[in-house]
Amino acid sequence: VGVKNVVESEDVTAKLGKTSSRILVFVRVRPLSKKEKESGSRSCVRIVNQKEVYLTEFANENDYLRLKRLRGRHFTFDASFPDSSSQLEVYSASTSDLVEAVLQGRNGSVFCYGATGAGKTFTMLGTVENPGVMVLAIKDLFNKVRQRSCDGNHVVHLSYLEVYNETVRDLLSPGRPLVLREDKQGIMAAGLTQYRAYSTDEVMVLLQQGNRNRTTEPTRANETSSRSHAILQVMVEYRVRGESNVVMNRVGKLSLIDLAGSERALATDQRTLRSLEGANINRSLLSLSSCINALVEGKKHVPYRNSKLTQLLKDSLGGACNTVMIANISPSNLSFSETQNTLHWADRAKEIRTKEQNEEITQIPNSETDQAKLLLELQKENHE
Ligand code: ADP
Ligand code: MG
Repeated sequence: VGVKNVVESEDVTAKLGKTSSRILVFVRVRPLSKKEKESGSRSCVRIVNQKEVYLTEFANENDYLRLKRLRGRHFTFDASFPDSSSQLEVYSASTSDLVEAVLQGRNGSVFCYGATGAGKTFTMLGTVENPGVMVLAIKDLFNKVRQRSCDGNHVVHLSYLEVYNETVRDLLSPGRPLVLREDKQGIMAAGLTQYRAYSTDEVMVLLQQGNRNRTTEPTRANETSSRSHAILQVMVEYRVRGESNVVMNRVGKLSLIDLAGSERALATDQRTLRSLEGANINRSLLSLSSCINALVEGKKHVPYRNSKLTQLLKDSLGGACNTVMIANISPSNLSFSETQNTLHWADRAKEIRTKEQNEEITQIPNSETDQAKLLLELQKENHE
């Protein structure tokens, strides 16, 4: 995932040496909606060189040098997707490498961030005709598993959960709120359904059903809540029988997160964040911003414990994880300041450094002692 791996020695432990890497940040602009066109709004977003995003004030403004000089009008990301981008293009650039990594026993996560209506759910879940990252990732995963079926046995489990108003709910089996517990493996929601998945077809139906279970706000009946975070976790377990009939297994976890609408929680500095803390806004989203700030500033203490979302994602942000952010924006000039805030937030997220994972760990070692050693290191790394 755009990280460099340096192998200096043949020694197994030396292969595990890590250096610093940062999380990848992408931007996706959705097309102008019919409503926006009818209200006479126009696009204020230009994408140049598939990376740079410019915010323009005037309809035909193409003076990028001028915009570059203005504060908050010019941003550069790992890739920026124009409104013509397909779901597959977005998936391939942002997530397909993580699917490969998860098959090798690593953790990874992809977040969609942005204001309500900016295209987060479309990017993550999509529609039956136009499936999004969640479905394409699972499809890709099953294809890869099929290709490797002779190497060992892969088992895929799915969990789909929601964080709404600081309660965690199981979207695959709605009922009472779930309690978070911490054990050696990390933080988990007790009693969460782990659905054993065998094919892609069943997964789309399952996810759509789960999405309908997301909490809706009383004032916005029939609309998915803008304040609910949906997290799909895909666990891939790989089992292989060693020479002396010992079963070795490793588990990789991919978390795909459709965050709540960011419109009321767009503060990036600590003071504003704290003053918003008491107000009736999304605590989990604010905590996510606080954690990102702490990680960017290299603080020792990262306040994961402040919210349910950040507790659940602790192993997906700061540690040796592969993390991808997709910032979704509307092109409409009516959403100019929302878009600018989202881009500013995404720009900040670019600075988070994580510990790099070393690809060499996935090579099949010669002896069982080496294999056991590697497995232990991998478990330690994932836990970290
Ligand atoms: P969010 O989840 O961020 O609130 P949605 O994903 O629900 O926003 O998108 C709002 C509307 O825009 C939906 O009707 C969705 O189908 C449409 N939309 C979003 N992104 C795209 C896109 N890339 N292409 C076509 N339609 C899109
Ligand atoms: Mg949505």
